[in-house]
Amino acid sequence: MPADGLPWLEAKQLASLSEYQHMFELFRSWEIKKIRFTGGEPFIRKDFMSIVDISQQMDFENIAITTNGVLALPHLAQLKAWNVQNLNFSLDSLDGQRFEKITRRNDIEKVLFAIDKALELGMNVSVNAVLQCDTTEEEMHNMMHWALEKNIHIRFIEEMPFNGQGITPDWHWNWRRVENCILSQFPDATKQVKKPGSTADVFQIKSSEGSLGIIPAYSRTFCGTCNRLRLTPEGNLHHCLYSHQAYPLLKKIREGLSSEYITQEVSAFVKGKAINGFEAEKENQQQLASMAQIGG
Ligand code: SF4
Repeated sequence: MPADGLPWLEAKQLASLSEYQHMFELFRSWEIKKIRFTGGEPFIRKDFMSIVDISQQMDFENIAITTNGVLALPHLAQLKAWNVQNLNFSLDSLDGQRFEKITRRNDIEKVLFAIDKALELGMNVSVNAVLQCDTTEEEMHNMMHWALEKNIHIRFIEEMPFNGQGITPDWHWNWRRVENCILSQFPDATKQVKKPGSTADVFQIKSSEGSLGIIPAYSRTFCGTCNRLRLTPEGNLHHCLYSHQAYPLLKKIREGLSSEYITQEVSAFVKGKAINGFEAEKENQQQLASMAQIGG
């Protein structure tokens, strides 16, 4: 989130629980199999667990949550009971001071405790670490060893010069440098064959059930198999992280349009998606204010 925040939405702009139910039913009819709740921070929303509850009753093959981990702890046992087991923690550094500088809060202990608790419950834990211009190789090494010792899947997200102030000319952490960093620490790491739709290049190490991954979010090397749609809290569907084009799903539902009509429109919208994130970005008139607005 930008330090000076973002304009808040009014409550009436947010999808209600019954509207989530409606949207999830549409998703199932479109054969969407996987849902990931992300943010901002999903646990901030007071009725977030009710939304997860609706989704877990709807026969999705896979439900996952991406969280900063600060508010997750009280909900882990319930999530486990619902079989919502895929938790992705956003954690950019293990160093308390760096963590505080990046997040503007002194909560690293809470996050680490939530991660340990999720592991203790046998949940499938992964960590996403966004690399920043001042991330050091030592920090990366610490995170890699920590994750592998705990059998965690850690994914390093390529630095994205994409922060509302335009594209920065300095770009310190591209995927090649991350890969070199992994291989310098673990020369026997083997690269896994990428699953269709996967966003990460994953390296396996013999001694751990965890893994090391790279998400080339800025190089966009995985657009060819991208099959994701993003739904914002006000019910807009986006087909690309870099595109400003959106389909106003909730608005159409509130206008009382039929599911058949909406399905046809969404189908046309998805077919109009740019061939990759670079083309999508070119179509934009202005910079996105923050990834927090679209669920980066
Ligand atoms: S840049 Fe757009 S098309 Fe490429 S992977 Fe990301 S969301 Fe998908």
